Amino acid sequence: MSKIILTGDRPTGRLHVGHYVGSLKRRVELQNSGAFDKIFIMIADAQALTDNAEHPEKVRQNIIEVALDYLSCGLDPAKSTLFIQSQIPELCELSFYYMNLVTVSRLQRNPTVKSEIQMRNFETSIPVGFFTYPISQAADITAFKATTVPVGEDQLPMIEQTREIVRKFNSVYGDTLIEPDVLLPDNKACLRLPGIDGKAKMSKSLGNCIYLSDTEADVRQKIMSMFTDPNHLKVSDPGQVEGNPVFIYLDAFCRDEHFAEFCPDYQNLDEMKAHYTRGGLGDVKVKKFLNNVIQSELAPIRERRKEFEKDIPAVYDILKKGSEVAREAAAATLADVKSAMKINYFDDLELIQSQSEKFKN
Ligand code: ATP
Ligand code: MG
Repeated sequence: MSKIILTGDRPTGRLHVGHYVGSLKRRVELQNSGAFDKIFIMIADAQALTDNAEHPEKVRQNIIEVALDYLSCGLDPAKSTLFIQSQIPELCELSFYYMNLVTVSRLQRNPTVKSEIQMRNFETSIPVGFFTYPISQAADITAFKATTVPVGEDQLPMIEQTREIVRKFNSVYGDTLIEPDVLLPDNKACLRLPGIDGKAKMSKSLGNCIYLSDTEADVRQKIMSMFTDPNHLKVSDPGQVEGNPVFIYLDAFCRDEHFAEFCPDYQNLDEMKAHYTRGGLGDVKVKKFLNNVIQSELAPIRERRKEFEKDIPAVYDILKKGSEVAREAAAATLADVKSAMKINYFDDLELIQSQSEKFKN
């Protein structure tokens, strides 16, 4: 069986370091490993519209931002198909048929949808499209016969829902769809990176992000104003590293060689954490170190972005060509689905033959 990746992002803003450690960095590694037969990376504009119906311009403007973030992180159109969800109408058709296989109560139990409804204050007015987006996500994944979906932890319930739809489809209509596996980050801190405000998730919609395209000065300013341990008032006070976003970011980003380069007082993060815990290490010193670590990761991304920004029409062209390739793949799956569901009337000569026999008698 081919090994195929499908994953993507909503064009609701520029991509942030949470996306980077949660999924984007891994995608680039997987792309360059050569271990996959096909890689599809989707800009999920149709999904973004499910909770931004009144802000089409926001979605439109952010397509190019997300595409630039992809390219500057190293996604390579020669190796990965970069495409725009709304340009693949076959995905809507698949969603429509999958809707028959999911109950309303099952959707209501989806923990990610539940918390996103709360976050968006949708309690009394949930758009139907938003409520059903896990089904459309199942269409996205299965349309490309994806075996592997590299995502952050918040997407686990979506992949589980997709797997259920696949099992149900295959049991009713016969083996047609592929059950995908989720690929979560190995590093626990990367599963769901918190915001700079200490909130549980860095999220475009919450405005608590360090963006991949932020300037060096913006990144420094954001890091220096980060939330830390509220009880660590004086340098000499013992501090807490658990739940402290500055240390969670260090868990996500720093490697031992960063200490030799930027903070030779310590060999590794464990030593720095121990000093913070017993007292005597100030927040400013830790934040300065974190700033150096993150800047060293973001500098090459920022540089590459500048290059791609010089030829925006070429970036749109990459997306257009990718969308054509993606559409072909999705159309092939839709044909399989329709024939499994027995709604392929005109290319089924046997059906036409047997019906004409029936009416002859
Ligand atoms: P929105 O608020 O519009 O939903 P978002 O910031 O949650 O935006 P998405 O486009 O929904 O971003 O998510 C894209 C991918 O990035 C998903 O795989 C998701 O799991 C991952 N991701 C998003 N935020 C984080 C985070 N803070 N930590 C780790 N992974 C994340
Ligand atoms: Mg999200």
